[in-house]
Parts: sequence; structure tokens; C-alpha cells
Amino acid sequence: MRILIAALTLTLALGAQAGSLVFENVRLVDVKDGSVSEPMRVGVVDGFIVDADSIEQPDATVEADGFLIPGLAEMHAHVPQMRAGEQVVHDTLMLWLAHGITTVRGMLGEPGHLTLRQQLANGEVPGPRLVTSGPSFNGSSVSSPEAARRMVLAQHEAGYDLLKLHPGLWPQAFDAIVESADRLGIDYSGHVSVAVGLERVFESSQGTIDHLDGYAQLMVPEDHDRHGTDPGLFGVNLIDGMVADRIPDLARRTTDAGIANVPTQSLVENWATGDVDALMQRDAMRWIPADMAAQWRERVTQLRASYDSSADAERYVELRRRLIRELHEAGAMILAGADSPQILSVPGDAIHHELAIYVDAGLTPAEALATATSNVADYLGEKNRGCLEPGCVADLVLLESNPLEDIDHTRSIQGVMRAGEWFDRGRLDTALEAIAERAGGGTTENL
Ligand SMILES: [Zn+2]
Repeated sequence: MRILIAALTLTLALGAQAGSLVFENVRLVDVKDGSVSEPMRVGVVDGFIVDADSIEQPDATVEADGFLIPGLAEMHAHVPQMRAGEQVVHDTLMLWLAHGITTVRGMLGEPGHLTLRQQLANGEVPGPRLVTSGPSFNGSSVSSPEAARRMVLAQHEAGYDLLKLHPGLWPQAFDAIVESADRLGIDYSGHVSVAVGLERVFESSQGTIDHLDGYAQLMVPEDHDRHGTDPGLFGVNLIDGMVADRIPDLARRTTDAGIANVPTQSLVENWATGDVDALMQRDAMRWIPADMAAQWRERVTQLRASYDSSADAERYVELRRRLIRELHEAGAMILAGADSPQILSVPGDAIHHELAIYVDAGLTPAEALATATSNVADYLGEKNRGCLEPGCVADLVLLESNPLEDIDHTRSIQGVMRAGEWFDRGRLDTALEAIAERAGGGTTENL
């Protein structure tokens, strides 16, 4: 595809959001009804979509000849800690952006991420919009219900967007979090602690359940000897006892509770059933430093030791895929999240893998796209995101090929727009090359 920048103004070159741009000859993908428009013109002014005819003389024109989708979201992301160094943080943000991710929900925040959120919003740092949790609520950080209340209050005052729940919470502490957070109106999302259990979470207003945590325990019949035993990571110890006929009831109860799920299924498949050598040799691994890649491989080896057989691992993966499908069919919201960067989930690349898995699990390509676009906007209560009409925020991805024909076409990225700032393929490639170079480009071959 040929992309022609007719007149790139200095404002756009500097990355400011001000200015106007017209996409010529572009087809809009409607993720809600699964349709594609005729080729048309789309205008963008000062970071918002407008009727192209209202722009007399655009600052820039993109001869698109492709398909436009709303920018994607990674709803279970790990923005590196600031102590990892500014370059590492910025490179990770650019990896997401270059793969069409215009919103990330950071699931392990820290004070530095609040500053970063502002820098990203101002366009000072190129990258997706950041929605961030604070430091995690877990068995070590929360010593009592009183401590839980204080921590909720402090994080709310600090300005975090949500509270991150990690394992190890006791029911009394969880109840205190729920009570305080509901009173303040702040979202709490993440894991389901074993002692808390999914039943208690269904009674709460928890925003998202991540990793499908907590479901495995309720898929084991009461008379099975695995019932009530240590579930291990996401129920991996319970595979023998998990039965599929519990899934419809769990899906219905999730829908009734109004709780969304962020499956991070690609992460689980990476370590459970993925071909590790093939995953390590993927092109995307050139952006990952060799030491991190080595840690990932080591972690997979450890996790695989918890299965009795590869048939068990396959059964586990299939049951989880079925749960995703039935949650979706029952009307429970699915939000795309891949837990990047983490165990072979490369930032940005991992969301495309995750979406492809949703399609394999039974969603249509449009439904899979919605999990990363319109569902996210609905979940966050944002009417002007995840959409392509005039008035919507211009967070956009231009694709060469129709993603409704093949979900893998979400990878055919010709350019990404973030709040009106246009990153064409050339600009993205230059950034990606620099990241690969800093990562030590190609050294994973030696691992
Ligand atoms: Zn995580």
C-alpha cells in the first residue's frame, strides 16, 4: 500500500495533537455490527474525528486505501517500574503503540506511573493512553481490614484509576476493600484470592476478573478429591477434577453479577501448550532483551513441571477457551488483555495473539475486535472512544487488509493515530528498529 503524506505540518511532525488530517479512500470497520463501509474520507481535527468535508485545507492527507479500526487496548498490561530506567519504559510504550495499542491498563502501578500518565496524555511521551492501578493489594501489603481501608483511601487520593487485587487476601480484608472502594467509586480488579473465592466476588462490584482466576475451583465437583485443595496458579493443580458442565452456570452468574473478564489466555497458552522454541524464535522476540527472554524460558520450564502430562495441559487450555466462549455467549463482557510483558507475551504483539485465540475459541472477528475497542469504552464508561464517528477521539489503526475476513489482518498495520498524532509505517519501523538494537537484536537465537 502506498501512503502519501501531502503536507505534513511542523505541528504534526513534532507530535502535537493540534492540526488537521484527512484519510482518503478508507473503509471503516464497524466492530459492533461487523460491517465495513464503502471507501470514504475521514477527517481529524485537534485529536477528534470530524466530517472530512468540514475541513477546507487539511494540514496533511493520508492516501490510505485500507481499513480503519478504533485503536486497540491491552487491559492487563505491566508498564515497567520507573526504576527500570526511562528508556525501558518508553520502549515498552512504543512497542504497544506500534502494534496499534492506544490504551493500556497498567495492572501494577506506582507513583511514577501517575506522572507518566500525564506525560502520555500531553503527548510529551509517545505511547498509548495509560489507565493505571496503584500498587497491589495482596496478602503481604494488606495486614488487616483497617490497613485495607487506609490503602484504598490513599490510592484514591493519589489519583489512581483503579485498585489492583493480587492473591493472598483474606475475606475480611477483601470486604473492607469492597466497602471502601464502593463508597469512593473506584474500580477494583484483578485476581480472585483463594480464601475469598469467586462466590464472594460475584456478590461484589469487582470490575474485572483477570486470568479467569477463581473459576477452576468451582468447576470441580464437591465429591471429587481435588475439591477444596490448593488450586495453584489459575487452577492448574485442579485439571483432573475440572468438568465442563459447570461452565454454563458460571457464565450465567458472571453475567448476572455484571463482572467483566480479562482472560490473558495467550499468556496461559504460551506456558501451558505453546511451542517454546517457535515462540522464542518469533520475529517479535527481537525487541526483548536476551536476559528477559532467558527468564521467560526458565519460567515456562518451571510451570510445565506442574502438569502430569501434555494431554492435561491441552485439556486445561480447552476448558479455558470454552469458558471464554460461554462467558461471551451468556453476555458477560470480555476485555482483551495479554499480561505483556510477561512469559513470552511481547508488548503489542501479544494482543494480536490474544484476539486470534478468541476467534479460535468461537468469537467472530468483529466480536474479538470489540473486546479490545468498543467493549473497553463501554467498560470505562467512555462514549467517545472505541468508535469511528465524528466526535470520537482519534485513536485509530490503519490496516492494509480487512480484519473481519481474518483476525490476523489486525497485524497489517500501515499506521497508528494516537489522539490525532499520526505515526506512519516508516516512523513506527524506525522506532522499532531502535528498540531491537537496544535489546541486542537477534541474540535470542543463542538461547
Ligand atoms: Zn499481571
